[in-house]
Amino acid sequence: MASSSSAAPQAEAFPDGTTDYVPLRKKTYDIRKPHITEQPITLQNWYQHINWLNTLFILVIPAVGLISSYWVPMHVKTGIFAVAYYFFAGLGITAGYHRLWAHSSYKAALPLKIFLAAGGSAAVEGSARWWSSLHRSHHRYTDTEKDPYSVRKGLLYSHIGWMVMKQNPRRIGRTDITDLNDDAVVVWQHRNYLMSVVTMGLVVPTLVCGLGWGDFLGGFVYGGILRIFFIQQATFCVNSLAHWLGDQPFDDRNSPRDHVITALVTLGEGYHNFHHEFPSDFRNAIKWWQYDPTKWFIWTMKQVGLAYNLKTFPGNEIEKGRLQQFQKKLDQKRATLDWGIPLENLPVVSWDDFVEEAKTNGKPWIAIAGVIHDVGKFIADHPGGKALITSAIGKDATAVFNGGVYSHSNAAHNLLSTMRVGVLRGGCEVEIWKRAQAENKDVATVTDSSGKRIVRAGNQVTKVSQPVASADAA
Ligand SMILES: [Zn+2]
Ligand SMILES: [Zn+2]
Repeated sequence: MASSSSAAPQAEAFPDGTTDYVPLRKKTYDIRKPHITEQPITLQNWYQHINWLNTLFILVIPAVGLISSYWVPMHVKTGIFAVAYYFFAGLGITAGYHRLWAHSSYKAALPLKIFLAAGGSAAVEGSARWWSSLHRSHHRYTDTEKDPYSVRKGLLYSHIGWMVMKQNPRRIGRTDITDLNDDAVVVWQHRNYLMSVVTMGLVVPTLVCGLGWGDFLGGFVYGGILRIFFIQQATFCVNSLAHWLGDQPFDDRNSPRDHVITALVTLGEGYHNFHHEFPSDFRNAIKWWQYDPTKWFIWTMKQVGLAYNLKTFPGNEIEKGRLQQFQKKLDQKRATLDWGIPLENLPVVSWDDFVEEAKTNGKPWIAIAGVIHDVGKFIADHPGGKALITSAIGKDATAVFNGGVYSHSNAAHNLLSTMRVGVLRGGCEVEIWKRAQAENKDVATVTDSSGKRIVRAGNQVTKVSQPVASADAA
């Protein structure tokens, strides 16, 4: 399609292989000149800060459409057509601009590319080249100053503000779009963008409804203007709502989130946490019951031979990511709970001192598996009664606690750990473990991401599987 003379201009490449974005239409544009955004907004210059072309397309024209719908009756056939055309334009953005051109998550045959570029034009969201370049910056620099529509600047900014206000192209992170400059459909659509938008966005719906069933005005207002408004607002939600509402099953360091409401609004782009983690996957939703019509559309195109090389991430890698994030959440939750003073932070007490403190000084101390516990506040609450617990004070109750008298529950072992105040010198495993910790030797314990010991059910230090005979002396 494109001859070599009409190939897109390539900007000077940076060492990392990226280039500055070079618009194809404005030949006079010079990236080195000062940009209006470098001046503060004042009463004299505010209008220069507004991107009037975008404002016309996304605010003024929709407003005119909304007002005029008051006088224009809605024909049933026009209504049905407008909904169908809405999906055509939506798929142009999601299956075309986003998953095909911005992320190369599959390859498309020429007829499908033309269909998607036409749909994208009908959505009136800029050219595929411009849209994909910004979207690659958004993925590369998510939530940073270089993110063209960072949600950190506010929900409204990420939704629409970044288009209404002029942006300094130098602020936006660089990306590599050489592949798009080699795509004849992308370059043609970019060069002929205004004509494409007017034709696909307004002329085609007007003519279809007018020549089809005589509703020229309805086709223009409902099939054109208002349908454009709804598809714009829906896809803008990917930048705003999908970075604000929902869960983060794969990574919580950045803002992208998964939510079914966003998916319903955006033809399946709502599983955005997954998407930012696995952007080259042609799917956004991986479960069959999740709403991702864009994925189903691409899959169908594959069945009819128009799409190929559909990329997916291996399920094993996806589940690893999910598990690691789950583990991170577990660690965060674990850190909020009281697991008792870590053994290595407890003082070492000799057996004689332990007995002395309990018998002579009246400390309510009980030793279990080499760990000394202060049960003073618990005596009155002991489910087994006062007598059994007080009889163990000043003694080694390892065996009675572990089945000698009653095999205590997992919860009892957990609760006991919050009462510990010392470890016995020569307290067998506990002291060996403690000494090894101090000497930084390899110890067979599992720690979480913050280095804290993970205590599993039935694995508490006080849990002794084969109770030792109750010993009074060590
Ligand atoms: Zn995003
Ligand atoms: Zn993306």
